[in-house]
Amino acid sequence: MSTATHAAFSLPASWQWRPSPNHSARPARVSAIVLHADASSRVASSLDWIRRAESKVSYHILIGRVGEVFAVVHPDRMAWHAGVSSLDGVSHVNRFSVGVCLSNRNDGVEQHPGAQVSAAADVCAILCRHYGIPVDRIVTHAQVAPGRKTDPVALDLAEFRERVTARLAI
Ligand SMILES: [Zn+2]
Repeated sequence: MSTATHAAFSLPASWQWRPSPNHSARPARVSAIVLHADASSRVASSLDWIRRAESKVSYHILIGRVGEVFAVVHPDRMAWHAGVSSLDGVSHVNRFSVGVCLSNRNDGVEQHPGAQVSAAADVCAILCRHYGIPVDRIVTHAQVAPGRKTDPVALDLAEFRERVTARLAI
């Protein structure tokens, strides 16, 4: 199957490249974004973990609490973030999604700072524009793995999609 349906994605200069070995070839066209929380109190801890081969997990993008953006897997490759999952009846969501993670305890108490949500909306707008992802295909890990995952529990998805839509209108 050809995956050459998009021009190669160029990482914005403001994204800090912190590569992980945990990725594989993209077997399908990118058509969704899955939002996560890392269930961590320190972005440095989860960044370290997803860059270890032994973890066998990764996100494409990890966003810290003050809005710092780490690119961990190139979005043209497949990261290992969603696990057993399905979206609109299609399983293996990793195959066709970009994983964007916000550092947050995901304990139902900690909220997302404004700078972090703003950075995440910027990231998603860039990805939506490049890959032609509809805003309603920005989904949560909880949505694609119901009963198994709750993240990102503190994010208001409807409000977040509106932020991305506003950026795309510019
Ligand atoms: Zn998750």
